[in-house]
Amino acid sequence: MRHPNALIAAAAALMLAGCARQTAPTYDLVIANGRVIDPESGLDAVRSVGIRGGTIEVVSATPLAGARVIDAARHVVAPGFIDLHEHGQQEESYRMMVRDGVTSAFELEVGTGDVAGWYKAHEGGQIVNYGVSIGHIPARMKVLGDPGHGLLPAGIGGSGSATDAQMAAMEAILREGLAQGAVAMGFGSAYTPGAPMSEIERMFRVAGAGGVSAHIHMRGGLAGLRETIAAARSAGTSLHIVHVNSSAGTELEAFLTAITAARDAGQDVTTEAYPYGAGMTEIQSALFDDWATWPDERFGLHQLVSTGERLTRATFGKARAAGGTVIIHGRSEDQTRAAIASPLSMIASDGFIEHGRGHPRTSGTFAKVLGKYVRDESVITLIDALRRMTLEPARRLERRVPAMRAKGRIRGGADADLTIFDPATVIDRATYEDAGIPSAGIPYVVVGGQLVVDGGQVTAARPGRAVRAPIRPAAAPVS
Ligand SMILES: [Zn+2]
Repeated sequence: MRHPNALIAAAAALMLAGCARQTAPTYDLVIANGRVIDPESGLDAVRSVGIRGGTIEVVSATPLAGARVIDAARHVVAPGFIDLHEHGQQEESYRMMVRDGVTSAFELEVGTGDVAGWYKAHEGGQIVNYGVSIGHIPARMKVLGDPGHGLLPAGIGGSGSATDAQMAAMEAILREGLAQGAVAMGFGSAYTPGAPMSEIERMFRVAGAGGVSAHIHMRGGLAGLRETIAAARSAGTSLHIVHVNSSAGTELEAFLTAITAARDAGQDVTTEAYPYGAGMTEIQSALFDDWATWPDERFGLHQLVSTGERLTRATFGKARAAGGTVIIHGRSEDQTRAAIASPLSMIASDGFIEHGRGHPRTSGTFAKVLGKYVRDESVITLIDALRRMTLEPARRLERRVPAMRAKGRIRGGADADLTIFDPATVIDRATYEDAGIPSAGIPYVVVGGQLVVDGGQVTAARPGRAVRAPIRPAAAPVS
C-alpha cells in the first residue's frame, strides 16, 4: 500500500493539472476588440488576435488573455504594410515609415550590386523587415566605371553603351546577386539611356531564368511601356512597373489599359503608385541631361531638397554641379487620384529621407491613402486599399521568397506583423517643405510579435529581420 501522503500529493497534482487545462492560454501579446481586416480571407469583423513568439496563433471572437493586452476598440487591425519601393534603408527612414504603418520595406527598383554585403550591413535587428533586389543600374555603374557616388549613374554608367563583354559581366553580377538571395531584380531604363532595349531584354532573361520579378523604372512613355512589356514577354520574366503615376503622367489611362491587356493575355505584369503629385530624384541623373534646352518656366517646377528652394535657369546648373536630390512638381491631383483609384496599383512609397530632408511620400504614403483617398474622398474602399498595401505586395514576391506567404495576412500561423490605426483620424502630415513629420492615427505597430510603435511612439525594439530568397551556390559557368 502506498503511503497516504503520496496519495494526497498525487491527488493535488491531478487537481493542479485539471486547473491548468481549464485556464485559457496566455499570449505574449493580445490585440483585443479591434476591427480585424484580412484581405485574403475577406474577414472584416471585431476579433482579438493572440500572438506568441513572432507568430499570430489565433484570431478569436472571444476574449483572450495576454501578458500585454492592447485595447484596439474603434481601431482597424490590418496586416503590416509591405512597401516594395523604399530607397531609405536606414534607421532614419525606418523610423518615419513605421509611423506610417510599414512593417516590411524593400529596395527593389535600384537595388544593390552586392546582395550579400547589403544584408550583412543590416544584420543585428532593424525596426522593420527589409529586403533588396540585385540591380542592373549598380551592375552597369560598376562595369562601365560610372563616376557617381549616389544611387544613380552620374555619367557613363547611364549614358554609355556596353560591349558584349561588358554585358556578360553585368549578367554575371546579376546571377551572383540571385545566388545570394536577392528577392527581385531592379531596372531603371530611364536612368540608363545608353542601354538599348536589347540590353534590358538580355538582363530580363537572367531574371526570367532565376524566377524573379523585374522591377523597372521605365523610360519613353506609352511606346516605352509597350516595348518593356514585349521584352519581358520574350525574356520570360515577371514584370513590375514602378510608380505608374509618374511614369505614365498624362497617359495613365492608356498605361493601365496596356497593362490590363498584357495581364488578360496571361502575362505576369503588376504595378504600383504613390499618392503625390511630385516626384524626386538625383539632380545629376540622366533625366536632366537636356536641361539646357528647357524653357525658363520649367525650372520653377524643381525644388531643391536640401534647402526647399525652387530653382531657376541660373541656380539649376549650379545645383546639378553640386549634386543632391530634387523634387519635381507638375502632375495634377486628378492624375494622382486616378492612379490610386486603379485596382491594379499596389501602394508603394518610393521613399527616402536623410537628415530630416526628403520627399513627404517617405513619411506619409500609406496614411495619406487611408485618410484622404479612402475616408475623406471615397476614391477606394478600405479593404481594397489594404489589399494593395499588404496581400498584393506579398504575392508579388512569394514565388521567389516563400517567407512572404506568411506576411500580408491575418490568420493563425502568419507572421505577427500588424498595423493598428484609427480610421477616423489616420492622416499624413509630412509636407514638401518638411518631410520629417510622422503620420497621425497609427498608435500601434507590431513587427515579429513585438511593438515597434507603442502609443504612437517608436520603441527600442528592433525585431525587423532580413527577408531573403533561399541562398544557392552560384551556378557553374557554362563553357
Ligand atoms: Zn525609386
